[in-house]
Amino acid sequence: MQFAQIHGNEALKANLAGMVDGGKMGHALLFVEEQGMGAIAFALALSQYINCRDRSGGDSCGVCNSCHKHGKLIHPDVHFVFPVAAVSSLGESEKKHPISDYFLDGFRSLVISNPYFDERDLFEAIGLENKAGNISVHEARDIISKLSLKPYESEYKVMIIYLAEKMNAEASNKLLKLLEEPPEGTYFFLICHKPDKLLPTILSRCQIIRLQPDSPEDICDILCREENADADHAMIAAKISRGSYGNALKLLREEELADEYASDIEELLDAALEHNLTKLLSIAESLSGLGREKQRDFCIFAENFIRKIFMFANGVPQISFALRDEYSNLERYAATIKKDFYQKALSNLDTAMSAIESNVNAKLVFVDLCNRFYLYI
Ligand SMILES: [Zn+2]
Repeated sequence: MQFAQIHGNEALKANLAGMVDGGKMGHALLFVEEQGMGAIAFALALSQYINCRDRSGGDSCGVCNSCHKHGKLIHPDVHFVFPVAAVSSLGESEKKHPISDYFLDGFRSLVISNPYFDERDLFEAIGLENKAGNISVHEARDIISKLSLKPYESEYKVMIIYLAEKMNAEASNKLLKLLEEPPEGTYFFLICHKPDKLLPTILSRCQIIRLQPDSPEDICDILCREENADADHAMIAAKISRGSYGNALKLLREEELADEYASDIEELLDAALEHNLTKLLSIAESLSGLGREKQRDFCIFAENFIRKIFMFANGVPQISFALRDEYSNLERYAATIKKDFYQKALSNLDTAMSAIESNVNAKLVFVDLCNRFYLYI
């Protein structure tokens, strides 16, 4: 990946290239981003730039052997580490010490298809089966062993660690010495979303690179140009994306979910308002029959819908980022729903999502959710 292929953060691209050209780059960089900003793309473009034999104008050539292998994430001197878990698809011995190498195919496909992914996308792409991924001491041992070897074909070796905050204390401590005094010609590019979750000893050894939010106008332009998005929808998604292109892209796709889930949440709210328990039970039955992914998508959509009603109820529809054709429905709910419902409903939906991810019986989750809506609305 070349810098030119990444959206936004133009000043950062120039800074990174300048650091390499001026020989001022530290050996351990920590990219801090809001999820979906594409820090992994910056780390890859930087690695490609460092290793390119024909770079010019602040970017790699994109066509040499090294650039070609970077583009496919198959360069033998570029290593990837990310959170993983012992899943059923692994062999018995692999399950005892799962490491990123066992999940590389899914990781490569994800990064190549959409470098603006988030943690949830990653866990889905590598098939973590709703388990919590982490970076364990086994991984740290593997990193040490890989970096003890000489580079295969480049002058430099690069270790990219995505979601470094998922390193447990044992793994972090094992890597401290290596981060402080890496073998010659070795670069560590760590990426994290929550730097406060990193051990201070790790933080202090890294040069921190903060990705800046992109403006809604810039994000909207890219969505219209590259995703063929409708300008109104794109601008709404851009405004609530917190400056993250990946978030905006996701929101735009969630808008598409509206067609699927709008009638479900409206039926649920209507049945709760009518105190129609029989109807609520049948809605709970139907939701519990969806697959787990769809159940989670429904909860995400429902949270967003309830947030919009809340904005209407508080007289600020302009910051609900609702579409014009949603206005009359949202106004209707805002006029009838009790003021203390919103906070409770959002927290109930969060609880439902956690329960779904922890494999709690779906019928129990949705009957409980519908019952709480009935009680609080
Ligand atoms: Zn090149």
